[in-house]
Amino acid sequence: MQSRSWNAGQVPVLSVDSSNVQPPEQHWHTLEASSAREQLEATNPLSADEVRSRLAAYGPNRLPEGKASGPLARLGRQLRNFLIYVLLAAAAITGALGHWVDAGVIMAVVVIQTLVGFIQEGKAEQALSAIRHMLAPKARVIREDGQHQIDAADLVPGDTILLEPGDRVPADIRLEKCHNLKIEEAILTGESEAVEKSPEPAEKDAALGDQNGMAFSGTMVSTGTGRGVVVRTGSATEIGRISGLLARTTSLKTPLLEQMDRFARVLSIIVIVAGAAIFAGGLVFSGLPFRELFMAVVGLTVAAIPEGLPAILTITLAIGVRQMARRQAVVRRMPVIESLGAVSVICSDKTGTLTRNEMMVTTAVQGHRRLDVTGEGYELEGVVRQDNQPAEITGALDELARAAALCNDAHLDFQDGFPRIQGDPMEAALKVFAHKAAFDIEASASYWPRKDEIPFDTQTRFMATLNHDHHGHGVVYIKGAPERILDMCEAELAADGETAALDRARWDQVIADLASEGLRVLALARKSVPRGTTDLAVEDLDTGVELLGLVGLLDPPRQEAIRAISDCHDAGIRVKMITGDHALTAGAIARKLGLRNSERVLTGKELDGLSAEELQRLATEVDVFARTSPEHKLRLVEALQAQHGVVAMTGDGVNDAPALKRADVGIAMGVKGSEAAREASSVVLLDDNFASIAAAVREGRTVYTNLKKGIAFMLPINGGESISLITALLLGLALPISALQILWVNMVSSVVLAMTLAFEPPEPDVMKQPPRPRGQSLLQGFLVWRVFFVSLLFLVGIFAAWFWAMHHHGNQSVARTLAVNTLVAMEVFYLFAVRYLDTPSITLRGVLGTPVVLGAVASVVVLQLLFTYLPWFHNTFETRPLSLEMLVFACLAGVSVLVILEIETWGRRCLRPGELN
Ligand code: ATP
Repeated sequence: MQSRSWNAGQVPVLSVDSSNVQPPEQHWHTLEASSAREQLEATNPLSADEVRSRLAAYGPNRLPEGKASGPLARLGRQLRNFLIYVLLAAAAITGALGHWVDAGVIMAVVVIQTLVGFIQEGKAEQALSAIRHMLAPKARVIREDGQHQIDAADLVPGDTILLEPGDRVPADIRLEKCHNLKIEEAILTGESEAVEKSPEPAEKDAALGDQNGMAFSGTMVSTGTGRGVVVRTGSATEIGRISGLLARTTSLKTPLLEQMDRFARVLSIIVIVAGAAIFAGGLVFSGLPFRELFMAVVGLTVAAIPEGLPAILTITLAIGVRQMARRQAVVRRMPVIESLGAVSVICSDKTGTLTRNEMMVTTAVQGHRRLDVTGEGYELEGVVRQDNQPAEITGALDELARAAALCNDAHLDFQDGFPRIQGDPMEAALKVFAHKAAFDIEASASYWPRKDEIPFDTQTRFMATLNHDHHGHGVVYIKGAPERILDMCEAELAADGETAALDRARWDQVIADLASEGLRVLALARKSVPRGTTDLAVEDLDTGVELLGLVGLLDPPRQEAIRAISDCHDAGIRVKMITGDHALTAGAIARKLGLRNSERVLTGKELDGLSAEELQRLATEVDVFARTSPEHKLRLVEALQAQHGVVAMTGDGVNDAPALKRADVGIAMGVKGSEAAREASSVVLLDDNFASIAAAVREGRTVYTNLKKGIAFMLPINGGESISLITALLLGLALPISALQILWVNMVSSVVLAMTLAFEPPEPDVMKQPPRPRGQSLLQGFLVWRVFFVSLLFLVGIFAAWFWAMHHHGNQSVARTLAVNTLVAMEVFYLFAVRYLDTPSITLRGVLGTPVVLGAVASVVVLQLLFTYLPWFHNTFETRPLSLEMLVFACLAGVSVLVILEIETWGRRCLRPGELN
C-alpha cells in the first residue's frame, strides 16, 4: 500500500524540492527541530496492539443500554389489547356453553392476532435498533498512526482525544490543553451555565463542578477547543456511575398513530357499550336464542373494532424509516416522518450539501499579480502560473503559501493513490496549493511550531495561529473571510516583497471579481509579534496586520443536487440556500444550481436591519442568503413558519441547534455535523448531501400516503361489516355473515391484503403534487368520505350476495359463504383502487400491481378456496361449496367497486384539480 503523508509525527515520504524557494528575508525564518503538532500529538499516542489489549481489559466505552424489552415483554404487550379481552371473554363464554368449535376458533384468532402483532413489533424494533447503531457517537483520537475519527465505543483509557465546539465529551478526560474551552455540564451537575475549563488540576476532593481540569463523559462542549487524555470509560465514568444506563431512542409513534390509537380506543368503548345494549335489548325483545344473540354481538364487536390497523400503521412507519435510512437519511424522532411529507420549504447549507466540498485553489492574487493554479482536486500535480507561464516563486508567494500551510488544521495523505482528508476540505486544498507553490510543508511544520491559536468561528469568520521559530520570534498567520481580514489590515505585502499601504478599493474589486466567478474567496494575512509571545487573543489583531493576498477556491455544485432541486420545484417545494459565504459567490453558485430567485441575495447584515414583517416578506421572496450566522437561521425559520411554511432546515454547528430544534424538520449533517447539531435535529444525513433531503421528503410523502391508504383500506371493511350486522339486527334478518366468518375475514384476508400497503412504492406523481397544507389532519375530508362511501358499497355488496343466493338456493350457509366471498372479492379489488388514491387505478401499471400485492392476492384467493371447498372449513365456519356462477357474482361485485371508485376519483379530479391531498 502506497502512502504519502503530511500527518505530523510521521516520516514524510513525499518531500518537496524547495531549492527554488527564495531565502526568507524576515528575521523569524529560522529553523526549529520539532513541530508543535508533533509535541501535541506525541502525548503517548497508543499503538494498535495497546488499544486492543486495553479494550479487552476495560471493555468498550459504552454505557449498558436501557433494558430492551425482551420477547416476553413484547408478547405481554400484545395481550394488553382491548379486543383480545373481548375475544377471551367470548371464548370463555362459548366454551362454558359447550360450543367448542366457536371457542376454538376464537382462541385460534387470539393466537394469530397476538403472533402477528408480536412479529410486526419485532420488525419495527429491529428497524429502530439498526438506526441507533447508525448514529453511534464519534470521537477524534490521536493514536500512534495519526489522527482518526472513530466510534466513541472504541476509546480506551490513555487515548488522547481532541474536543471542538458541539462535541459531546466521549469519556472522562483529563485536560492537557484548552483554548477558551467551555463545557456545559448540566447533565451531571444541573448547572446550566457552561463551565470554563483549564488544564490545572483541582483539589483532591473537589466537587464535580469544580474539577476544571476534567471533561466528563456526556457533557457538551459549547465553545473553544481542547485536548486531553481519557482516564475512565464506559460505566466507570461519572455519568456511568450516576445513571448506569443509556437512554434509549424513541418508539415508533407519530401524532397520526397516537390519533389512531385514541380513535381505536374510543371506538372500542362505544362498540362494547353498544354491543352490551344490543345484547340486553335483544334478550328482552327479539326472542332470539341466547347463543345466536351472543355470537351476533361478538361478531359485531369484532366487525367494528379496527384491530389490525395499529399494527399495519406501525409496520408502515418502520418500513418508511428503514427506506429513509437506505437513502442516507436517519430519522431520530418518529413524528418527523409526517412533517417530512408536508415540507414546503427546504433551507440548505451550501458547502458540502449543495456543493461537493471538494475544494481546489484555482486562483491567487498577490499585490497586482493574478496567478492561476493548475491541477485536479487534491492531486498534488499542478503548478502556479502567471500569464500561462510557470510563475516565479517570489518570497511574497512563499509567504502566502506558508500562511496557507501553517494556519491550517487539515491532514491530507494518500492511500492507494486516493487523497484521504482529515479535517476541513478547504484547508486541505490550501495545503495542496502551498505544495504547488513549491512550499516545503513538512519542513515548515517543524521549523514553525504552533504556540497558540484562535480557532475558526462562524461568527468571527477567521482563524489565526501563533507560530514561533527556534529563537522565540513569533508571527501570527491569519486566514478568513476577505472583508473580515481586510478590516484588520493596515498594509499589504506587494508581489516584490515590499510592504505597501493597503489599497482597500482595489481589493474589494478583486474580491467581487473572484466571487462573481463562483469562487470561495479567502484572505491570508500575517502579523509579527514580540519575541517570546506565547498567547494569542482576538484583540492582538486590531493593529499591525499585513495582507499577504487572496486565494479563490472552486467548489463545484453537486450534479445530483441540481436534479434534486429541480424535483423539489416540481413538488412545489421552495429551496433556499443559507450560507456563510460571500454574497457574490453564493449568487453565482445559486445560478449554477438552478435556484429560483438567484439574482437577489440577502446578506446577514441586511437581515439584521429588517423588521419582523419585512423579514417575513423577504424570507418567502428571496432564495439566497449569504454571510449569515446561525442566529439568522433561527429568524428565517420563524419568518417562514409565520408564512405557514413547513420548514426543513439543515445545520452542522453547535450554534445551529436552536434553528434545528425550531424547524419542523431539523436536518443535521452526519459527516461534518457536530454532536450538538445531531442531537437537536430530527433527521441526520449520513452523506451530507442535499439529494438525500429530497429523497427523504419523497419517502416522507410515500409513508404518509401509505398510512392514509392503510386507513382508507381497513376502516371501510370494519364499517361495511358492522353496518351490515346492525342493519340485519335492526330489521330482524338473519346475519348475512356469521360471527366466526367475520373473524376469519378480519384476521386473515384483510390483514394479508392490508399489509401490502406498507410496502407500496411511491406513486408516480408523488413529487409532482404540491405539499400537504400545514396542520391538515389526515382524518378529515377525503378520508372520511371514502370510509363512508366504501362502507356503503360493501354493505350493498354483502346484502346483494346474500339475497341473491337465498333467492336462488334458499340455503343460509350457501348465502353466507357467498356473502363472505363477495366481501373478500370487493376487498381485493378495493386494494387495487386504494393503491392509487388520486390517480386512475385501471391502468396497465395498476393492474399489474407489485410482486407483494400479487403474492398477497394469490394467498387470499387460495385461502378463500380452502374456506369455500375444504370440508374442515365447512364444519368449522359453516361454509358450503359455491357454483362457478356464484364465484363470477363475487368477482363482478369486486369489479363494480373498482369501477365505481374509478369514476369517483375521476369526478374528484375534475372538481378539484391539483388539490387532492
Ligand atoms: P455553508 O454555511 O454553506 O456551509 P460556509 O462554509 O461558507 O458555507 P462558514 O463555515 O460559516 O460557511 O464560513 C463562512 C466564511 O468563513 C467562509 O466563506 C470563509 O470565508 C470563512 N472560513 C470558512 N472556514 C474557514 C476556516 N477554516 N478558516 C478561516 N476562514 C474560514
